[in-house]
Amino acid sequence: MALFGVVGFPLRHSLSYRINSAVLRDFGDLYVPFEVPPERFHRAVDGLLALVDGFNVTIPYKVVVMLHLSRISEDARSIGAVNVVRTEGGKGVGYNTDYLAIVNLMKGLRCDRALIFGAGGAARASAYAMVKLGCSEILIYNRTQSRAISLSNQIERWGARSRVVTAPEDADVFINATPLGMYEDDAELIRFYRGARFRTVLDLAYRLEGTSLSRIAGSSYISGIDVLIEQAALSIEIWKGFKVERERMRSALYEGQS
Ligand code: NAP
Repeated sequence: MALFGVVGFPLRHSLSYRINSAVLRDFGDLYVPFEVPPERFHRAVDGLLALVDGFNVTIPYKVVVMLHLSRISEDARSIGAVNVVRTEGGKGVGYNTDYLAIVNLMKGLRCDRALIFGAGGAARASAYAMVKLGCSEILIYNRTQSRAISLSNQIERWGARSRVVTAPEDADVFINATPLGMYEDDAELIRFYRGARFRTVLDLAYRLEGTSLSRIAGSSYISGIDVLIEQAALSIEIWKGFKVERERMRSALYEGQS
């Protein structure tokens, strides 16, 4: 039996926990949630590195965890965030599957211009994915302008054109990289989305019942649930070293739901 887990604070992302624990149980493994407050984080990570075979990292530790790792993949280092750690003899190797999940789901889609709503960690991983997919221009809209400017500058360093926008503009891909539509009031997001035309929508917010964007986005819609499943499958593949059925991941999500 191998031991895996997730470290975060607070641990709200129960859907991710549900998928990982059910699928790892199929392999006879255990997946444990470690809700660790900031004052105990550094000691807890050292303990995890010594004890478990691998762990996911979630808000607010995706950046600070890098201080504890002996190796970090080139992509995770460029993004500046790690969401998966594999342990090797008490040392940690860090990866970012948030970005890779988006690359896998959007491969082959045409994107000359993407518009990202949000400028936090998920927006950063999405922007990096869009650069990797060959998107030549990435526009950023965010409630807090200073964060939008900082992400836009980073995108230019990754090699694509970028600018901050204060109103919607037509684009091939629209990405919602905020929690809006998940549990908060999303009138601002819907108003913004309706202000321009997009071919494809990637919604990182997720809800089993669907987000409000899912109800109006039409056929070319990639849901946060799809991203969640793909990034979880990629995590398990990093830990176990073999391919995981996406359909098994999806059914795990709905287990226990009536
Ligand atoms: P984060 O670093 O805290 O960033 C949050 C972003 O949302 C910021 O741009 C923030 O704007 C914006 N925001 C939050 N509340 C807002 C509001 N009421 N009105 C307007 N903007 C608001 O969080 P994150 O890691 O980027 O995650 C963002 C979302 O993506 C979360 O809901 C997370 O669960 C989801 N996510 C999903 C997956 C998946 O697998 N589906 C993967 C990663 C993340 P300010 O800068 O102005 O605060």
